Amino acid sequence: MDTPDQAYMRRAIQLARQAEAAGEVPVGALIVRHGEVIAEGFNRPISTHDPTAHAEMIALRAAAARSDSYRLPGTTLYVTLEPCAMCAGAMVHARVERPVYAAADPVRARGGQRLQCRAEPGAQSPPGRRRGSAR
Ligand SMILES: [Zn+2]
Repeated sequence: MDTPDQAYMRRAIQLARQAEAAGEVPVGALIVRHGEVIAEGFNRPISTHDPTAHAEMIALRAAAARSDSYRLPGTTLYVTLEPCAMCAGAMVHARVERPVYAAADPVRARGGQRLQCRAEPGAQSPPGRRRGSAR
């Protein structure tokens, strides 16, 4: 018999399969509050031409719309793959109480570190915001 976490993750895996069937990277997510699934999503950046259309972002937007609030206290977000920096940040802003992911992602989860490398001294930066200048 599945624990609730296992049952919700099983549903997230079904959503990931929908993404795969649509030619997307297979990631699925859902949000639960008080034992009720309030939103679901799967990866859609390719089909929507939207780089932010990750499974978690789609689920967060749907949960916020349903809740009439951008904050989602008391929620658990289940996702099949470790969230990237964008989604992790959005989850913090939304006050998701408990993130649960199935598989670690050493590639995407390091996205923030890659961005940091580009901001090192000597890298291109907008005028007036150059690192290492006197002001
Ligand atoms: Zn993401």
